[in-house]
Amino acid sequence: QVILITGASGFIATHIVRDFLHAGYHVRGTVRSSATAELVRQSFSQFAPQLSLVIVNDMSKPGAFDEAVQGVQGVIHTASPFQVFNVEDNERDLLRPAIDGTINILTSVFTHAPEVKRVVITSSFAAMLDISKGSWPGHVYSEADWNMTPYEVAAAKGAPAGLAYSTAKALAEHAAWDFVKTNKPNFDIATIMPPMVYGPNINATANLAKLNTSSADIYRLVSYQTKSSDDVPQNMFWSFVDVRDVSTAHLRAYEVLEAGGERFFLCAGNFTYQRFVDALRERIPEIQDRVPIGNPGTGTVPSSVYTINNTKSQKILGIQYHKLEDTVVDAARSLLKLEGSL
Ligand code: NDP
Repeated sequence: QVILITGASGFIATHIVRDFLHAGYHVRGTVRSSATAELVRQSFSQFAPQLSLVIVNDMSKPGAFDEAVQGVQGVIHTASPFQVFNVEDNERDLLRPAIDGTINILTSVFTHAPEVKRVVITSSFAAMLDISKGSWPGHVYSEADWNMTPYEVAAAKGAPAGLAYSTAKALAEHAAWDFVKTNKPNFDIATIMPPMVYGPNINATANLAKLNTSSADIYRLVSYQTKSSDDVPQNMFWSFVDVRDVSTAHLRAYEVLEAGGERFFLCAGNFTYQRFVDALRERIPEIQDRVPIGNPGTGTVPSSVYTINNTKSQKILGIQYHKLEDTVVDAARSLLKLEGSL
């Protein structure tokens, strides 16, 4: 089978490409430039006969994926802007590409890829969050939750990029479910909703100066000049998952029959940065002098923070979540390797 994976150069998509190749599929990846295609090709050179790359440089354009989908049997749509810094225009940079990219891939599959039976879409916990509730004491987040922020609020001048990002993900996912309801295509969809995704960074385009948002979050923890306890960041966000589990979830959501028509909250649990730095200092002693100490052993998640229910992903997709310590340590190791320090 040939599987189309959009945004094949990304942090998460690289793991997904790898897992599908390992599982024996042929993968056709979309990227935005020939330079990126070359890097991705080189990084999977051992799978050369199974991997091809096509360039889709603007997925917001109608018909953008018409050629890319031809002859494929399955689609994994991960491409979407994930940035909260350097956003000049919420609509142009975040909302439109996320929403239009999703509608365009589904339209192309509907009109040009009759053999496709399932499309798996990378959504986000951002599509579930009710930002107005903050840490929402007592709430249990699950697939039943939806972020209800209206488009106009996120598109408004001066609206924070984080709000626009989360709204873009929610509206893109809504657009996907609406598409299926309205058009009743031959294929079904499944959506994957991860919170902050950490873990090994293995993408061919990784660049320490321009890391994807969640890897940058970990790199910051191993880049301190001082070890003052004040340097341990305050949590702005509480939930995490390992990139390897997110990738497995995409593969299983594609393969498992009962996953069709379902949303999956892919979440290992809640974290604190104190627990992250404790794990880093203990497990990678050679970087102790660049990781803040804080107050070791005090990193319990406050009881005022919402909790999560991830049972559906375990039951239907068979996910066995990585432990927090392994996720953060493997993430840091990969970044230190990129830096040349390990
Ligand atoms: P990356 O930034 O590493 O990957 C994003 C991918 O999408 C890249 O391949 C990028 O291409 C592509 N992309 C971005 N904007 C566009 C655009 N306008 N048109 C076409 N392609 C585009 O981030 P992640 O791997 O973290 O994100 C992948 C997916 O996972 C996204 O859908 C994101 O919303 C979702 N997600 C990520 C989380 C995380 O913590 N990392 C959490 C929850 C969801 P290029 O390489 O050319 O820039």
